[in-house]
Amino acid sequence: MDKALAQKVIDRLASAKSPALFTHLRPDGDAYGSLLGLAHALKDRGQTPTLHVEGGMIPMYRFLPGSELVQDVPDQLPAKADAFVVLDTSTRERVGKKTAEWRQPVDLVIDHHVSNPGFGTLNLIVPEIPATAGVLFRLFEMAGWKISPAAATCLYAGLSTDTGSFRYRGTDSQTLRIAASLVELGADPSEIAKHCYLSITPERYQLKKLTVETLSLKDNKKSGFLTIKPDFYSKSGAKSEDTEGIIEEVTSIQGLEVASLFEFSKDGGLRVSLRSKGRVDVNAIASFFGGGGHRAAAGIRFSKDGEKNRDLVLAAISQAIARLEA
Ligand code: 5GP
Ligand code: MN
Repeated sequence: MDKALAQKVIDRLASAKSPALFTHLRPDGDAYGSLLGLAHALKDRGQTPTLHVEGGMIPMYRFLPGSELVQDVPDQLPAKADAFVVLDTSTRERVGKKTAEWRQPVDLVIDHHVSNPGFGTLNLIVPEIPATAGVLFRLFEMAGWKISPAAATCLYAGLSTDTGSFRYRGTDSQTLRIAASLVELGADPSEIAKHCYLSITPERYQLKKLTVETLSLKDNKKSGFLTIKPDFYSKSGAKSEDTEGIIEEVTSIQGLEVASLFEFSKDGGLRVSLRSKGRVDVNAIASFFGGGGHRAAAGIRFSKDGEKNRDLVLAAISQAIARLEA
């Protein structure tokens, strides 16, 4: 982490009385964990941050301390806000439709996505740390800011979920050191794991069951894809956030290099999730189609031509796998 840049970020955060904190659409554990982790650190310093996520808090992460502070994205940047801060979000668009029209520039971006172009005035992007929550931990440590048990819990949840429970490539000794420090500061690994991994609702389970049934293996069983059709939601009673983690079912198949998940929406749009076991760079594939993410986990959104775009993405995956064998 660039120390001089990190210090500028600390100074910018410290100088804001009421920073407005945002994260990405379809927020995951790192999105909520870093949002709430930063909020605790700032509140403990006497600052009054506001927290905004499009759609508000999802039930699964309500166990995170401070989750009641999360509000939906307002129509305008709060009048009191003296810093517009965006966490864990790889592009400006992923902050959400509402904010896209605001004329205020994003003051501060804190992230770990290698594909992040740096859309803020000040950008701290640290791809060598596998979660934004880990970047924040290093930042607080450098600043000498208090990390309460509540903050540690939120940051640990972000680090754990974004590393697939410390399984993905990118999990290194530094990651585990950060995790160990967070445990010393009060995060409870088994309690957090219970909420993040062992609390699937029956509706979510039903969606997973329907989706897993669609598995199709390709490219000599080196790639596999799942499909979510619009009616799976009415059939299962699940919500859109309930797709998180389903793709791991495919990634777990022996010999597979790339897993993908195609979620079709009623209006013809398509959301794509890509995972690699390490040899194929799925960020490169996603970026080609206007998406992004990391080498081993990336995503794309298409607003139309769902089926055609699915075929194009599948062809790109086949080519990438063919190159491995060449
Ligand atoms: P997921 O498949 O879990 O939705 O996303 C995997 C990774 O890819 C995440 O790190 C996420 O930030 C990134 N990602 C997902 N969808 C998009 C997208 O439409 N655009 C970009 N730039 N990144 C995405
Ligand atoms: Mn993240």
